[in-house]
Amino acid sequence: MPLSDILSRIRDTALDCDRSAADVTLIAVSKVQPNDRVAAVLDAGQRVFGENRVQEAMGKWPDFRATYGDVDLHLIGPLQSNKARQAMELFNAIHTLDRLRLAETFARLAQELGKCPDLFVQVNTGAEPQKAGCLPEEVDSLVAAARAMDLPVKGLMCIPPADQGPAPHFAMLAEMAARNGLTGLSMGMSGDFDVAIRHGATHVRVGSAIFGDRTAAH
Ligand SMILES: *Cc1c(COP(=O)(O)O)cnc(C)c1O
Repeated sequence: MPLSDILSRIRDTALDCDRSAADVTLIAVSKVQPNDRVAAVLDAGQRVFGENRVQEAMGKWPDFRATYGDVDLHLIGPLQSNKARQAMELFNAIHTLDRLRLAETFARLAQELGKCPDLFVQVNTGAEPQKAGCLPEEVDSLVAAARAMDLPVKGLMCIPPADQGPAPHFAMLAEMAARNGLTGLSMGMSGDFDVAIRHGATHVRVGSAIFGDRTAAH
């Protein structure tokens, strides 16, 4: 689907629930996509992108930034502590803070680097064993701990279970954000970003609807 169609669907949905389109950021998820498809979306004016692997992002975004100027990059995949420094240098936002140890690593590196990306705490709303994210009952303490380290926690992120309707998960995430005084909600993908916007999403992560199917398995 052309980028302009996605943007108008986001705008129409936002207006339909009395929100402003400006309150919803489209993150174009470019993982695994060939460079010519990514360049086409950059040519169309998109400047916010999401990647789920640090190594892959390091391989393509410095060049794209040199050509296209400022691009906002968001890390949406799990992060190992040993890649935290590279991630903090490359990304403007990291959506996958899910454990205390990673928060401690960010805090130490933020001192060293003199900067820290915007952070979202990932919540495993479905408590799925194989999935990343802290458990719902751990959110409040992880947010409090990260704030006590002066980390810039902006919101929460979730990926609902594939076999369930996403709405209850989006509602749960919104409730957890509100009770923690957080305004950012990173939720909604190609199949459900409109539902997410109706539940208050501030960041929707849309890949295949913009770029087409991913060929490699990710
Ligand atoms: C790949 C991915 C997306 C985009 O998924 P689509 O269904 O292609 O829109 C969104 N969020 C995360 C965390 C992802 O890994």
